[in-house]
Amino acid sequence: MNALLEDLLNKHLAGSDLPLDPGLLNELNALLDAATSVKPGPSEQAEGPRTLDELYHTLWEALNILGDEASPVAGNGDIQGAILDAADKLNKACRNIVLSEQKTLRETVHLKTIQSVAKAGSWDVPATRDLSDVQNYWSDELFHLLGIDPATTKITYEQYIELVHPDDREFMKEEVNKAYMETGRYDVEYRIMRAGDANQQRIVREIAEVVKDKLTGEPVSLIGVTIDITDIKLAERAIVDANIELRTLFNTMNEVFFSVDLEHNNLLQISPACTRVYGYGPEEFAKDPFLWFSLVVDEDKKAAHESNVRLSMGEITQVEYRIRHKDGRIRWLLIRMWPTLNVSGKLIRIDGIASDVTERKEAESALANSELKLRTLLENSNDAIVIINKDLEYTFATESIGRIIGYAMEEFVGTSVLNYIHPDDKGVISHSLFSLTNKPDAPLPFEVRFRAKDGSWVWLEGVATNHLGEAVIDGYIANFRDVTDEIRYRKELEDANDKLKRTNAELDRFVYSVSHDLRAPLGSILGLIDFTATETADDDLIQSLSMMKSSIEKLDVFILDILDYSRNARLEVKRTPVNFSALLTDIRNSLKFTSTGNSHVEIRINIEEDGAFCSDKSRILIILSNLIANSLRYYDPARPDPYVEVTVVAGADGALINVKDNGIGIHKDYHPYIFNMFYRVSEKSKGSGLGLYLVKETVEKLSGDIQFTSTPGVGTEFKIFLPNP
Ligand code: ADP
Repeated sequence: MNALLEDLLNKHLAGSDLPLDPGLLNELNALLDAATSVKPGPSEQAEGPRTLDELYHTLWEALNILGDEASPVAGNGDIQGAILDAADKLNKACRNIVLSEQKTLRETVHLKTIQSVAKAGSWDVPATRDLSDVQNYWSDELFHLLGIDPATTKITYEQYIELVHPDDREFMKEEVNKAYMETGRYDVEYRIMRAGDANQQRIVREIAEVVKDKLTGEPVSLIGVTIDITDIKLAERAIVDANIELRTLFNTMNEVFFSVDLEHNNLLQISPACTRVYGYGPEEFAKDPFLWFSLVVDEDKKAAHESNVRLSMGEITQVEYRIRHKDGRIRWLLIRMWPTLNVSGKLIRIDGIASDVTERKEAESALANSELKLRTLLENSNDAIVIINKDLEYTFATESIGRIIGYAMEEFVGTSVLNYIHPDDKGVISHSLFSLTNKPDAPLPFEVRFRAKDGSWVWLEGVATNHLGEAVIDGYIANFRDVTDEIRYRKELEDANDKLKRTNAELDRFVYSVSHDLRAPLGSILGLIDFTATETADDDLIQSLSMMKSSIEKLDVFILDILDYSRNARLEVKRTPVNFSALLTDIRNSLKFTSTGNSHVEIRINIEEDGAFCSDKSRILIILSNLIANSLRYYDPARPDPYVEVTVVAGADGALINVKDNGIGIHKDYHPYIFNMFYRVSEKSKGSGLGLYLVKETVEKLSGDIQFTSTPGVGTEFKIFLPNP
């Protein structure tokens, strides 16, 4: 090549392997050679450049305008002009080549960017039987997708197949074969395991085409694109899962979801819960667009209609109404609905949820009823309830306060408790507060005088409880009632009682002293009778004296009974250990000297005692001597073996006393009266009628119990239990 041209090309197109037209280069070469061989004559000097330097300069300028649109001045047939033309052609050729190179470069960049953005790699595999060592074309993005660095690793098709998930390999190979054999292309999805990271599985979609030789029709190569669709797949799966969840929710929720297309009057969907809530299935609702309204009870149809009117104005609505369930029962529903309006503001769709709120409604109405009941009760009760805060101000009072102390609730609430309490009872209040603070769980009864609106003092009796710890109450609750009358009666009763007790005690003392004083003259009379009887031999007189003596003895027994009664009533119970054996021996001995004791009746005594029993000896003496005396007195003369048997079992638990005789017995008609004061079964009875009365009174004084059985002709048995206190 001409040295000048080579030098210029090197300078301008250094490093470029532009495929310049060899014809053009030859032409230029020849021209330059010719030009440099011409000897310049002086005449031609002015016509144009002839020297090598001039030529070089001309060509330099021509090539310098590469890339510019301006065309060099057309040649005029001389060698300089020819060179300029050639340079112009060279310029254009270079320019086109550079532009197409730039375009290719841009497209390559585009392609790479697109592949990277779309996560799509492309590849080209020659159609050959032995794929083990074939150098395929894998785009950079495909390498990236496979987790392989293209700069360091080259992989073969077989190595690529190794990266395909084992479960997908066969299927993939089949698809490739099918493409070669019949279809010419395939479009599959499979999983690949990223190199060096077994856990990082990616899902790809691969679309490939078999390129065939135009002449032979034989497959030349397989060209394809492999797109990473993992994210799309995961998103799809998430959508599917969400859809399944939503569907499950839709099918299983207790609420009824529904959507209605109003343009076509078409029920788009209704959830299966409608069968439970309304008793009608989705198909029945779909068939009859007015079914829901026909189920609304007549009284609530207006509310249902109004909610539809609000919906048509674009408002989200919430309405409660009753429907008649298919089973005939009335159910309460809460319906929430969302409207969709079109551009001209027309309601075209409703979405809603209907919930069965019957239980809540029933609970609400039960609550309202019980509240009403409670309020009615409180307001009509004679009791008042107030709440008092920690500053002792009323924060709440029932209306009934008006009936009790005359204040209206409004004028009462907010005032202080201390404004109303009687000065003498203020101590009760501070004492109560002290107790309520120290024992907050113990209800505290109180009784105070309260100033009523009319200025009078009213006695209030009630109970206070501490609820300071409870946010809703935050105070003391006191409920009370007017007990002014009761207290007046009680006070009167207490006074009368005191008076009665005093009178009784006086009476007892009087009876005692009178009885006591009467016995002394009786003793003197008896002594005189005995003396007179010894002084006379007159039988009539002696008999009269004996009768007098017997009457006076009877009177004495009577007085003794009265004295016993009086003692029992008057004296405190004195408990000491009781020795029944000694007691009964005394009784037996003292009875011997009375007329009653002078009988043929055998006295049998059985005692079991351990000395642990304590009671009032003198009272037990009264009980036993009266019962034994009666058995002696009312013995059955017709019996050959009259007896009275006294059995005592006494110990720490108490004493069981049994007095049993085989005397004349008592007819059952008289049983209810025998313990009455002065009661005697017959006028012929020898006693005063006080004995059994005294026994019962005394047993009761000892907190014991007495029972008896008696049958005429069989006998009588008294059973007494005395506790050991
Ligand atoms: P009185 O002083 O008349 O004995 P009581 O109160 O002791 O009065 O007895 C009331 C009546 O009960 C007696 O009048 C008597 O008729 C009857 N009575 C009491 N004890 C016996 C008995 N053990 N056997 C039969 N009758 C009895």
